[in-house]
Amino acid sequence: MAEAPVQALTVGILKETASEERRVAVVPAAVESLRELGPAVLVETGAGAGAHYSDDDYVSAGAEVVSASELHERADVLLSVTRPSSEILRRLRSDQTVVGMLQPLNDPLLIRDLADLGVTAVSLDGVPRTLSRAQPMDALSSQANVAGYKAVIVAAAAYDRYLPLLMTAAGVARPAEILVLGAGVAGLQAIATANRLGAVVTGYDVRHEAREEIRSLGAEVLELPEVESAGAGGGYARALTDAERRFQLGALSDQVHRFDIVIATAQVPGGRPPLLLEEDAIARLRPGAVVVDLAAGPYGGNVALSRSDDTVVTDRGVTVIGAGNLPATVPRAASEAYSRNVRTLLFHMFSEGRPVIDLDDEIQAGVVITHGGRVVHHAAAAAVEAVTTAGGVEPHESGTPY
Ligand code: NAD
Repeated sequence: MAEAPVQALTVGILKETASEERRVAVVPAAVESLRELGPAVLVETGAGAGAHYSDDDYVSAGAEVVSASELHERADVLLSVTRPSSEILRRLRSDQTVVGMLQPLNDPLLIRDLADLGVTAVSLDGVPRTLSRAQPMDALSSQANVAGYKAVIVAAAAYDRYLPLLMTAAGVARPAEILVLGAGVAGLQAIATANRLGAVVTGYDVRHEAREEIRSLGAEVLELPEVESAGAGGGYARALTDAERRFQLGALSDQVHRFDIVIATAQVPGGRPPLLLEEDAIARLRPGAVVVDLAAGPYGGNVALSRSDDTVVTDRGVTVIGAGNLPATVPRAASEAYSRNVRTLLFHMFSEGRPVIDLDDEIQAGVVITHGGRVVHHAAAAAVEAVTTAGGVEPHESGTPY
């Protein structure tokens, strides 16, 4: 009997639609290797423009540049960086797969719709963080690295003095004192970058193991003993108790005035970021001080005054920068890294032109959100259940990843 022909997979790279989003899911350099999955790689017109990749760059790399509607019609797998617009997602067919950072816990109703459509939805923000074979697919880490680096650059640009110690004929300029709150991927990258720029750096985290990582980068550790060892496994912090939270807010408020720049990076996937600096803490900072809040977003941030993608200067001259999507401001580096994450995940999940769904696989159990008409991801299913039975849920503040 003749062997069944291998199905040729058509991959489609969407143009991002969120405002200020400049990244693209796949860069031209990665197109050739994607063609191993199937001969056709489609790119929506202008998809790479924000990261300075022209349509011609994609054509030279072997892709076909098409309109959005043709891409929707022909692609088996649609690739994006952030969540495509709800309109795009609702136009998907049951034989299609969508891959991106979908943040399923933030919009359970959309996840329910995708399940009803029979779509296979794959979310890179669910890649297990501590599994070594999953590291090349870890988009949260690749993008957090970009954010941590850029946070220091943004802070330095807004600061009214030098970062390093400078000795000139006109005198000695003291180095900036920088405090990094949260020492996950973004925080550690911020610490390393600030060190390289010559600042005096202190890091703080509620997880005990993060302290060693802070020290290994040559930074000081800010000790707040009452809330130490708040690890929840998998590298994540647990939610603090009310008493711990009150203590932490008070203790940070007492310490923060020593610093010229504060970079806050504590984020909880699918949950509300913990508040680390209240208004009174910001009021204690010296005029000219800068606070960059990487957690700033629709559900608040780590810093009381920060607003998503906005800068506030207080009456005392403290600059508070809400910087929830810094990777989009370094689009080329962020897209190159994301591109590698996507490619590795696709090669893990697809075989002979089809998605091979295996929810016993630890990686797939983390990333496959809907399949075969069901919400197959446990935490996403619980969120959908909660929102449909209780009529709505607020993102919780917790240290539990999904
Ligand atoms: P994240 O963005 O969720 O949080 C950033 C940091 O904020 C974390 O270190 C967390 O402990 C801290 N934090 C949370 N609540 C806090 C609070 N109230 N006060 C102070 N700090 C608080 O974390 P992430 O960067 O996505 O990383 C998650 C974990 O996964 C980290 O431990 C990271 O090292 C780990 N990780 C490990 C690997 C690996 O082993 N290869 C790869 C990637 C990430």
